Amino acid sequence: MAKRKLSVAIIGAGMGGLTVAATLRRVGIEVQVYEQASKFARIGAGIQQSSNAIKVLRLLGLEAHLRRVAFEPRAWLNREWDTGTPTNEFLLGSDIEERFGAPYLLMHRGDLHAALASIVPSEIIHLNKQVVGLTTAPSGGDPTVISSFTT
Ligand SMILES: Cc1cc2nc3c(=O)[nH]c(=O)nc-3n(C[C@H](O)[C@H](O)[C@H](O)COP(=O)(O)OP(=O)(O)OC[C@H]3O[C@@H](n4cnc5c(N)ncnc54)[C@H](O)[C@@H]3O)c2cc1C
Repeated sequence: MAKRKLSVAIIGAGMGGLTVAATLRRVGIEVQVYEQASKFARIGAGIQQSSNAIKVLRLLGLEAHLRRVAFEPRAWLNREWDTGTPTNEFLLGSDIEERFGAPYLLMHRGDLHAALASIVPSEIIHLNKQVVGLTTAPSGGDPTVISSFTT
């Protein structure tokens, strides 16, 4: 029996779904992404991406762009709530980049989401599609079939 090509349905085009879609496509796996929202919007606020996350984004070819739109803090500083006395200063900036091989960046969530969306072809992102059920097919068929959507 001919081996079937793996095809993966990803539910949700948030940062997780888009990252999975982009990484699977890099290794030649076909994906389709289903998102219940009707459009992407610049929602949320600041988001931190530590060195390990940046290494994934580097692999996806997004590091240079994100360095341009992000802020690279010098340090993480904790203070006592009432006096403001520093209790801990964790150096970031070039210090963390040397230590872990990637920077620690702060950016708007919308910028990160837009960067991820830019590397996933829009034809495979299906907006207005809410997955409302999954069924498992009998053996021999598709292991899991999306049974229904609402639009
Ligand atoms: C206050 C706060 C601060 C955070 N700060 C950070 C931070 O600084 N750094 C960091 O790395 N992470 C941070 N996180 C975590 C980060 O936001 C999440 O890890 C990330 O958003 C998860 O991505 P996701 O794609 O799995 O989920 P989501 O971003 O929630 O996306 C899920 C998507 O799936 C869609 N969906 C849901 N159900 C269905 C359905 N049935 N059918 C179709 N579509 C569906 C939704 O509409 C949505 O678009 C923070 C989270 C919160 C709440």
